[in-house]
Amino acid sequence: MNRPENMTQDNSDIAQDLSRQLLPMIERWVRFESPSHSDEALDGMAKLIVQDAERLGLAALTQPLSTDGAPLVHIHNRSAGDERPGILVLGHYDTVHPVGILEKNPFRMEGDKLYGPGIYDMKAGICLALTGLAQVQRLGGSALPVDLVILPDEETGSHRSRERIEEFARRSRYALVCEPARADGGRCVTARKGTGFITVKARGRPAHAGMQHDRGRNAIEEIAHQVLALQAMTDYERGITVSVGRIQGGTTVNVVPEHSQLSADFRLPDPQAADELRAKVQGLAARVPDVQLDVDFQLNRPPMPRTEATAELLRRCQVFAARAGFSLDEAPMTGGASDANFTAALGLPTLDGLGADGDGAHTLHEHILLSTLDLRLKFWTETLQGLA
Ligand SMILES: [Zn+2]
Repeated sequence: MNRPENMTQDNSDIAQDLSRQLLPMIERWVRFESPSHSDEALDGMAKLIVQDAERLGLAALTQPLSTDGAPLVHIHNRSAGDERPGILVLGHYDTVHPVGILEKNPFRMEGDKLYGPGIYDMKAGICLALTGLAQVQRLGGSALPVDLVILPDEETGSHRSRERIEEFARRSRYALVCEPARADGGRCVTARKGTGFITVKARGRPAHAGMQHDRGRNAIEEIAHQVLALQAMTDYERGITVSVGRIQGGTTVNVVPEHSQLSADFRLPDPQAADELRAKVQGLAARVPDVQLDVDFQLNRPPMPRTEATAELLRRCQVFAARAGFSLDEAPMTGGASDANFTAALGLPTLDGLGADGDGAHTLHEHILLSTLDLRLKFWTETLQGLA
């Protein structure tokens, strides 16, 4: 983040009062571990978010996503009957860190850095948006209604949340996403690759590896061919990557293996690339005679291409950032996907990477920078108040 020399402090009592509540809230949230796979922990985290939102004077409720599992949290500033399309702010309260990690990686401050599991991705980011929204309400409200929607399963692909995210997106004018600001200078994100998974299963014919080698059909040999075929679909120039990340197969070394399978990750920049890759993957054919291939192609998050509408949203948010005291720059397309992919794919102007400054997402050195929290909070307040 570019920070000007002579930054002026916002001295309004309201801003000071609320910004004083920001750090203790971040600490509470980080100390409450909430991995994607623990419904009990996530339920507790959802309750904590609702409590903190209400403490700030905002209306907050949880909504179940399915018959079991942790809920969505919806915080808004709509008055009764206000159905106008507004600003959708998206966050997730799950983290990749298991319960107990705080013992190894405690919440702590070291110089300008504040450490703890999930602090950068993305608990601090949600706290910023939430506190900004509370300030907006105390200052008289926003031009557009704001829906802050916080989800429990982003780190595992948002399978349970996707439908609800899309419902909110269809009723919104803009989406702002609290994923971390890029580590290299706090840039925001206007384009993300689409992501997904490929699974290929091969079924051969088992045989004694010594006595009946010629009767066997080796499933591992088949999968080896498919590994090379998939890896060759990578095209760096076009931003398409396919990476086989796991292979399995065989029973013992003296048996020609009947079963083998691979799993691959792919990333691609636009819907056309997705269609092309799907066709290529679905066209994979067995190379070893008599082996059956079973191919599965799952586009988990569609690509988020940079549209003119998103560029316009960026220009407007850059004005709010300038008022807050910093310049909001744009990162090149990133290979990591987020819930922004879902809203952008529906044509909603979407800006992501508006959370806290810091580094080390998904690691034990995950941290945010204390010195830029004030600027980020002002940005959220300016944006939620003024964006129309
Ligand atoms: Zn995240």
